[in-house]
Amino acid sequence: MFASNLSSFASSVLRGAGQRARSWLPLASPETEFPEQWRAWLHEHVPLCTVLPEVLRHSHEDLVLKFLACKPFIGCAGLEVTEHMRVVIAGHAGLLVLARGMSAYAQLREILVYPGEFVARRAQVGTDGVVHQHAHVLRGESSSLGQVVLSWADVLAPAGPGHNLVVHEFAHQLDQAKGGANGAPFTFASPSQRQRWAAVMSHEFEQHQRNTALGEQTLLSHYGATSPAEFFAVCSEVFFELPQAMRYVHPALYTELSRYYRLDPANWHGALGERR
Ligand SMILES: [Zn+2]
Repeated sequence: MFASNLSSFASSVLRGAGQRARSWLPLASPETEFPEQWRAWLHEHVPLCTVLPEVLRHSHEDLVLKFLACKPFIGCAGLEVTEHMRVVIAGHAGLLVLARGMSAYAQLREILVYPGEFVARRAQVGTDGVVHQHAHVLRGESSSLGQVVLSWADVLAPAGPGHNLVVHEFAHQLDQAKGGANGAPFTFASPSQRQRWAAVMSHEFEQHQRNTALGEQTLLSHYGATSPAEFFAVCSEVFFELPQAMRYVHPALYTELSRYYRLDPANWHGALGERR
């Protein structure tokens, strides 16, 4: 769930490079008719697809085709990336850019997929000035180098309601499009827009940090309290997974995310939030 900077990510990339099964060629061209089997996979694993308004459903399928045509997938640690895996991951990733389009992922170069959790080793300078190697067990990672790394087991089996590993990591990727991730994922069109985003996100982040410190269970994962970048990624998960609940409990937060993603999932046929 890391949003890593260049130096920290390099170690995991190097490690993964030695274990790559193969680099996949594009699966389909954007002109390809959307296969029924793919639609069935999306309905099973990306339930929001079942309630998308008609016009958005067509846009989503078009995005999935484009995603698979231009973004390579790489299997790591012996994993053979299947058509099913690619379609499901592209299906989740497509939700975030439904209104913004594939250009929002222009910096994304490739998706690395591990069968399960993976270990990333990072060098860190200690207070003694000595460089120490630390191993981190991760389920996902996104880097400003244009890579998203996912544990397939965790894509298939979310940690619980409101969790979505793919949405989390691709939210980081959008945040990193401007460089490092800081929870402010876009160049604001106007000062007032920037001020409103900063005010709402800061207030909600500080409240979430207080709730987390008290051990209170809320809609948002405690992990979101670790940094503004993680807060944005965690909020994005809930925005797509439990939109009605987020709109009810965090209306200002929902509104800001709705403006950013240019989507209103809480209104999609009652959404799935209360059923999942
Ligand atoms: Zn994260």
